[in-house]
Amino acid sequence: MSSIKINTVIKDMKDILGKKRYITADPGILDTYAFNWNADNLNEGKSKFANRPLCVVLPKNIHEIIRVVKYCNDNDLQFKAQSTGWGVHNTVGEENKVILLDLRRMNKILDIDEKNMIMVVEPYVNGAQAQAELFKYGLNCHIAGCGANASLLASVTSMVGQGWTGVSTGFSNRNILGVEWVQPDGNLCQVGSWGSFNESDSKKEIDASEWFLADGPGPSLRGVYRGYFGAFGGLGVFTKAAIKLYYLAGPPELETEGHSPAIILKKWKLPKYADAHMIDWQKWEDFKEGGLKLAQSGICWSLCRNAAFIVALAASPSNTEFYNNQMFQNLIKELKFNLTIITMANSKREAEYQDKVIRKIIENTNGEIVELIEAEPFKALLFMAIAKQSNTMRGVFRAGGGFFTSLGALGSWDWCVEGAKIGKNLKKKEIEKGGLVDDGADNVWGLPYENGTFSHLEELYMYDVTDPESRKASIRYLESVVEASKKYPLGLGLGTVDGKGSEMHNIFGPLACNYHKWLKKIKEKFDPNNASDPGFYINPKKVNIK
Ligand SMILES: Cc1cc2nc3c(=O)[nH]c(=O)nc-3n(C[C@H](O)[C@H](O)[C@H](O)COP(=O)(O)OP(=O)(O)OC[C@H]3O[C@@H](n4cnc5c(N)ncnc54)[C@H](O)[C@@H]3O)c2cc1C
Repeated sequence: MSSIKINTVIKDMKDILGKKRYITADPGILDTYAFNWNADNLNEGKSKFANRPLCVVLPKNIHEIIRVVKYCNDNDLQFKAQSTGWGVHNTVGEENKVILLDLRRMNKILDIDEKNMIMVVEPYVNGAQAQAELFKYGLNCHIAGCGANASLLASVTSMVGQGWTGVSTGFSNRNILGVEWVQPDGNLCQVGSWGSFNESDSKKEIDASEWFLADGPGPSLRGVYRGYFGAFGGLGVFTKAAIKLYYLAGPPELETEGHSPAIILKKWKLPKYADAHMIDWQKWEDFKEGGLKLAQSGICWSLCRNAAFIVALAASPSNTEFYNNQMFQNLIKELKFNLTIITMANSKREAEYQDKVIRKIIENTNGEIVELIEAEPFKALLFMAIAKQSNTMRGVFRAGGGFFTSLGALGSWDWCVEGAKIGKNLKKKEIEKGGLVDDGADNVWGLPYENGTFSHLEELYMYDVTDPESRKASIRYLESVVEASKKYPLGLGLGTVDGKGSEMHNIFGPLACNYHKWLKKIKEKFDPNNASDPGFYINPKKVNIK
């Protein structure tokens, strides 16, 4: 335990950051950093708050960050980076020990290379900010399913990365093209091709065209700092990231009306040559076949599964509307194993081709286009939710205030569908006991990525966060997921390994090629003082290796 007094820390932080207003240890403000989605699931349902940081600082540049990081190493303290801070993963592993680096002052798009389709950003740039610029160039970026409000850098460098348009825009860990990385001991590391250029090579301070390769010569550092889940702030601080961009066959700006979060397409009109459908199958097997064929056809801009309950919740403007409006209840009754598909074409001919492909695949796999969704408002709502990702997440919190997820490891589409069946049965048991919101049990969200090369399907669930019994049910359900993962080959899923860090690595490591041995070695080598908060990543002291 560090013997340094908080007043000394505050004074030293002021020396580093210059102004008092960029530092706080006010308990009221610290608690706002500890109050976060899903905290209750990690502390056995006891509290809605996670641990309090020691203090919060708002650095403006990499020099200040390096000084704070070195300070923590020298004083037996820990640090943790936060970009947009949307989930519990930005909270700290230990109470009153961690300096939280809130990176909101580093909020710039540093450069866009439209020709090579690369963008370099700082931590606080979110999806909406990026899209506002990128659409002008006919480009788009992958946005994680949490929405356009979250940091792109946090997603590509540090945390998971599943997102609605993944069939055409990949997964976050596949879109990183180099980083500026303050390592846990305060060393600066430039990862990727840009690190090999001399400063004098370019006229610009940051030139996105230099960031074309994510790895430098030698072993892949990207695999070390990122991998599948990311290090959740447990392996230093990323201060710049280059992100791969994608072509967008759409207008430079969408014609919209209304106010956030209810921004809608003007007169419900889809952009020229864009289309949106909901396709439904009666059997899992047909869904499996149809989904893969659509993904592999190469025509989808977005292809994803949102179960009926969540579609209706997200589409309805309030809970009262959701329960009283027959249209939403009909939707729930009508949809079974469904996929949302969005296409974007460059010409009438291409749009017609896409339409033919969709209809042929549906015909061959016993699917059907859901008529209710063909009506204008629904089509436009679907398109907008996925293209701009501005109001997708409100649905998950609406039913009970609490929401979490489970399963959803990356694998083949067929394997993911088999996992979805298991998830549904596990959840059904807990719903029948009365603790979780009855969402019909099958509330699987996910999609095939990169035209079906790999996929994920996660089982969402909702609970009443104000009711201790419901919070207990949530924990029981997660425990049943861990038990099922020991029994069936369900892979490294969500809600487990990404939540309780070391405790889960002890269970899942031996089941998955002893990955935890390597993770531990990486952490020890790069962070000998364990200064970068290991809470959600791996704490070498808490991992049992025989
Ligand atoms: C309702 C909801 C739905 C979600 N759905 C999805 C989803 O579909 N797909 C998905 O991928 N995620 C999802 N998430 C999780 C998470 O919000 C995202 O992964 C997101 O991309 C990260 O943004 P954030 O604002 O949460 O980041 P932050 O909270 O700022 O950071 C997330 C993690 O990354 C670390 N980190 C952030 N910035 C840095 C940095 N500069 N250097 C080092 N480490 C850093 C943090 O320490 C933290 O552990 C969801 C979260 C919520 C609340």
